[in-house]
Amino acid sequence: MSDADTHTQPAPRDFIRDIVLEDLRAGRHSRIVTRFPPEPNGYLHIGHAKSICLNFGIAVEHAGICHLRMDDTNPTKEEVEYVESIQHDVNWLTAGWAEDRLGLKSKGALPVSQSVQGRPDFHIEAIAAAPGRTLEPFYASDYFPQFYDYAIGLIRRGSAYVCDLSPADTDAYRGAPDRPGRNSPFRDRSPEESLDLFQRMKAGEFPDGARTLRARIDMASPNVWLRDPVLYRIRHAEHHHTGNAWCIYPMYDFAHCVSDYIEGITHSICTLEFEVHRPLYDWILNKLELPRPLPHQYEFARLNLTYTVMSKRKLLQLVKERRVSGWDDPRMPTLAGLRRRGYPASALRQFCRGIGVTKYSGTTDVGLLENCVRQELNRTAPRRSAVLNPLEVILDTYPEGEGEMLDALNNPEDSAAGTRHVPFSRRLYIEREDFLENPPKKFFRLAPGQEVRLRYGYIIRCDRVEKDAEGNLLRLHCSHDPATRGGNTPDGRKIKGTIHWVSADHCVCAPVRLYDRLFTRENPEEAGDFLDCLNSDSLQTVSAHMEPALADTPPGGRVQFERLGYFFADPVDSRPGAPVFHRIVGLRDSWAKTAAS
Ligand code: ATP
Ligand code: MG
Repeated sequence: MSDADTHTQPAPRDFIRDIVLEDLRAGRHSRIVTRFPPEPNGYLHIGHAKSICLNFGIAVEHAGICHLRMDDTNPTKEEVEYVESIQHDVNWLTAGWAEDRLGLKSKGALPVSQSVQGRPDFHIEAIAAAPGRTLEPFYASDYFPQFYDYAIGLIRRGSAYVCDLSPADTDAYRGAPDRPGRNSPFRDRSPEESLDLFQRMKAGEFPDGARTLRARIDMASPNVWLRDPVLYRIRHAEHHHTGNAWCIYPMYDFAHCVSDYIEGITHSICTLEFEVHRPLYDWILNKLELPRPLPHQYEFARLNLTYTVMSKRKLLQLVKERRVSGWDDPRMPTLAGLRRRGYPASALRQFCRGIGVTKYSGTTDVGLLENCVRQELNRTAPRRSAVLNPLEVILDTYPEGEGEMLDALNNPEDSAAGTRHVPFSRRLYIEREDFLENPPKKFFRLAPGQEVRLRYGYIIRCDRVEKDAEGNLLRLHCSHDPATRGGNTPDGRKIKGTIHWVSADHCVCAPVRLYDRLFTRENPEEAGDFLDCLNSDSLQTVSAHMEPALADTPPGGRVQFERLGYFFADPVDSRPGAPVFHRIVGLRDSWAKTAAS
């Protein structure tokens, strides 16, 4: 796989990478271990790609390790379908990346190390060097027994207590940022009593919501997260990974730092909203009096994109309400959707590298992502001709019943891509938009009496416009100049416009799905319901006329339709010899034009 993003460019620099470098320089760690910890309650989206690229990138740059960890401590929202999609998507996004950077392919090494759990680490070097690799994630739920033991340790030390307040009272007692909280009446419970109650919580003696385990910190802290946060709650629910083994489940703040410690994570990188949780992260780990070095949490700004919603809850709503065809609908910002749309993984990585990592939240123009896709495909996608909205052209000067093959370049950006033969004949289709009966001044395409160049073909002139009784345009009658074969003008005359075409007698037809942005507003979440600005024109299907070679596009193949954009043979709906195409992205940012005009 050619991968311009990783092996020809220097490693990126940002404030987190600077911290890692400094830690290595100071000898704080012998090996860097990062993690990507999605909750399996939905599909991964382009925002997650930013986090994956950061965490995997840092591991790869320092020959370290990045763990894929299912942060699966909430039994009611999580599903095996999500676990599997996450594994698949992370695999897809990272394949072909690390081996290029590390040159492991040539070394052929498969360094697999053992984790503290005795399970093989998800070792980026290992998986990258193994084609067709499968990636074994870690599960936070595998640590439930350790979490429980650590919780017992906190109770024994007087750092946690069982509280009988109802969920509503717990909230009310917590106060607000500008108002201190009040101590729970159960705060001074003895460790012995808490221990007994906690064991009985685990044994299933109490119903949901009856009791919680809380950290004993400071109900007057200005940071509300430190006001005796809940560490465990009762949930009689089946878990996708642990079944019915547990009826108490740890909260995120307890499970996360402890999971990081168990796995030997050195740098626990998350998004800015967790900055206020960091004191709690450190408090818990410190109170546990652990023997090994502690992980540290660092925060960066999450990715927001224009014309895109990113929250899993909202994406789930789009799927559930059937606004889109599924999580992998090509208009979705999920990795499954972007892949189905035809976005190459390397373009997503290039995008993540380009936006960088900072502490300042902002919104990135989705046009930037589309540009990365264009740049990648401009290098790699073969050029083909297709007409989406046909207008018939008869070349009255071209002999009837005859034809010829013209040479066309497969990719002007890549001389190694070679040429192909394109059939030419008397009857052609051109794009309807390439003809105007009454053109404005600078219209350099076809118009009555005007000349234009057919790409790889001849210069033609429009002699006559044929219409039906109602005055509707039927076809054009043109003449060609035989001396201009291949588009040359031996007499040196200037022809400004070049248009694409297909031979009507040879072309094949295939469905083409023209996808557009899913939302019409730059910030769909700005005012009111995000569904109000759902773009009703985000999918249009046409039957396109194509040069015959396009019928052979394999499912999953990417091509440029000249002058129109990049297209993808849908891997699900295409059949051999009968592709169904998606528009991946146009050649230019048509939205930027609309906004500017
Ligand atoms: P959402 O808010 O979309 O539901 P989440 O943060 O709940 O997402 P997780 O599965 O918990 O999703 O996320 C896994 C990791 O990905 C976390 O470390 C999180 O910080 C990171 N992440 C999630 N969304 C983004 C984003 N938009 N940009 C960068 N990183 C993100
Ligand atoms: Mg989350």
